[in-house]
Amino acid sequence: MNLPHFLNWKAILEIFILWIAIYSILYFLKGTKAVYLLRGIFVLVIALLVFQLLGLPVLTRLLTYFFAFFLILIAIIFQPELRDGLAKLGKRHFFIFEPKIEEIEFMLNEIISAVKIFSKEKIGALIAIKRQIGLRNIIESGIILNADLSCQLLNTLFYPNSPLHDGGVIIENRKIIAAGCLFPLTEKRLNGFLGMRHRAGIGLSEQSDALVIIVSEENGSISLAILGQLSQNLNCEELLTILKGQLTKKR
Ligand code: ATP
Ligand code: MG
Repeated sequence: MNLPHFLNWKAILEIFILWIAIYSILYFLKGTKAVYLLRGIFVLVIALLVFQLLGLPVLTRLLTYFFAFFLILIAIIFQPELRDGLAKLGKRHFFIFEPKIEEIEFMLNEIISAVKIFSKEKIGALIAIKRQIGLRNIIESGIILNADLSCQLLNTLFYPNSPLHDGGVIIENRKIIAAGCLFPLTEKRLNGFLGMRHRAGIGLSEQSDALVIIVSEENGSISLAILGQLSQNLNCEELLTILKGQLTKKR
């Protein structure tokens, strides 16, 4: 059967790709202030179509120029949303490297043993467990170690006044990748008791899928930030259960 010329396979493919693209954009923008902007863009597109249909060249051209300018403006204003959106896109891997359960258990054992000491001795600590999303910029802000993970090394790194105790540590599988790293600070309003360390922990968890453990120097409390949400006042068993659940769940 011959399809009409506008319904060949290429047209269908294009419609399909456009549909996925529009769906993805809406998915990324869901729940952000960018949704309001979409209304503005919609009005502009309609205006452009009307100008074209009516054959008004000057207005059409002016609006086209304005569009280009508008797109740059959007990229600047909505940089955080675009960044989060791209991070979400990056999370949808088809081939995910899953660490073995024994590796996860080893890693958690060392981390929890260290956290227990930090909490008891009120040593401030900030530990990020890297997952799928790359943290290159953040790793490069600190000192790269690529050292075998151990409770003792974590203790040494966060020991008060040690050269690398300031900033955060990044762990991936059995390695401490870097220490003394500068994490991005969250812009969220936080409870008055939470300072920069907690702000940095939440900030990194907003911008990546890393699991970030924060131990308070002030009171030894243990918190965990996942995807921008902070669980506070955890004990070591609770921390272990959540971390294990997160690291072993199928994605
Ligand atoms: P605590 O309960 O331990 O006092 P806090 O949330 O009140 O934690 P601050 O007292 O402000 O935080 O902790 C300051 C420490 O947090 C700094 O010495 C530094 O080690 C760490 N820190 C601050 N900003 C960052 C950052 N952007 N990235 C990583 N670490 C940071
Ligand atoms: Mg403080």
